[in-house]
Amino acid sequence: MLGAIDIGGSKIAVATVRESGQIAARRAVPTSLPGGPEAALRRIVHLMRECETECDEKASGIGIGCTGPVDPATGVIGNVDLLPGWMGFPLTAELQQATGVAAVMENDADAAALAESAWGAGTESRFFLYITVGTGIGVAFVQQGRIYRGAGGWHPEMGHHTLDASGEVDGPCYCGARGCWESLAAGPALAAWFNAHASPSDKLRESAGTREIFGLARSSHELAIRAVEREAHYLAIGLANLVTIFCPDRLALGGGVMESADLLLPRLQHLVPSLCRLIPLHPSAITRAKLGEDAPLLGAARVWQHRVAEPLETQPPS
Ligand SMILES: [Zn+2]
Repeated sequence: MLGAIDIGGSKIAVATVRESGQIAARRAVPTSLPGGPEAALRRIVHLMRECETECDEKASGIGIGCTGPVDPATGVIGNVDLLPGWMGFPLTAELQQATGVAAVMENDADAAALAESAWGAGTESRFFLYITVGTGIGVAFVQQGRIYRGAGGWHPEMGHHTLDASGEVDGPCYCGARGCWESLAAGPALAAWFNAHASPSDKLRESAGTREIFGLARSSHELAIRAVEREAHYLAIGLANLVTIFCPDRLALGGGVMESADLLLPRLQHLVPSLCRLIPLHPSAITRAKLGEDAPLLGAARVWQHRVAEPLETQPPS
């Protein structure tokens, strides 16, 4: 049995996962608990014990997927926009001390990509590109079962490559760039564009999400259809750039925005191959991710399995 922890901007999910990829027990709490990462750690340990009790088995190792950037070698949280006050927190070391069980951590996009590669949309793929489009854009490349890493084991932040260098985009992204992919094509960008062009009666309520825009598009709302076209346009450019660089044999798209894959996927399957003609890519290679909401937790468990199979030189699991 493996322990799995997924730390996102809105919630922390904890689970026990069988080695074959089934979630045995799970719990979740909001990320924004008072007390910062120290209080969150105590809560995580408590929830992990509840999960172990429920399935009557202890976790033999713990994998963590965390919204990035995080340092996979040291297990320290980086400057994560969605986790204020967590920067510099040595999560895996603190967790190991609190539980007595070894823990390893990866960026959450890498974690979900490992799960899709092992148990989801990428099982037949050897050069697998996973993209999650939600409040941000996360990308991971799994090459013959292994995470593609940069220097120091770091996760390349492909969601922040610049698409529009014209300087016409409002304000810089938190990453420091102006016109990066995430700031043009993640869910908040879609909603912001729609609201900026909507008549007062059409503007989205503050609590409304992108799902509402896709719903309007399905009922032939003209501005919503333009918003979907714009979303597909920017998603396609970013995807085509990645195809040109990595030559994947399969792309799987997950995340909240891709819940409306019925509207986006056909457009992407048409647009992306037309934008990267130097690389052979059949439209059917662009698919929707399969594991849905379970991908991050299953991915966290895969993080442990992946690190056991391929230790990082700087911090092999004990
Ligand atoms: Zn950015």
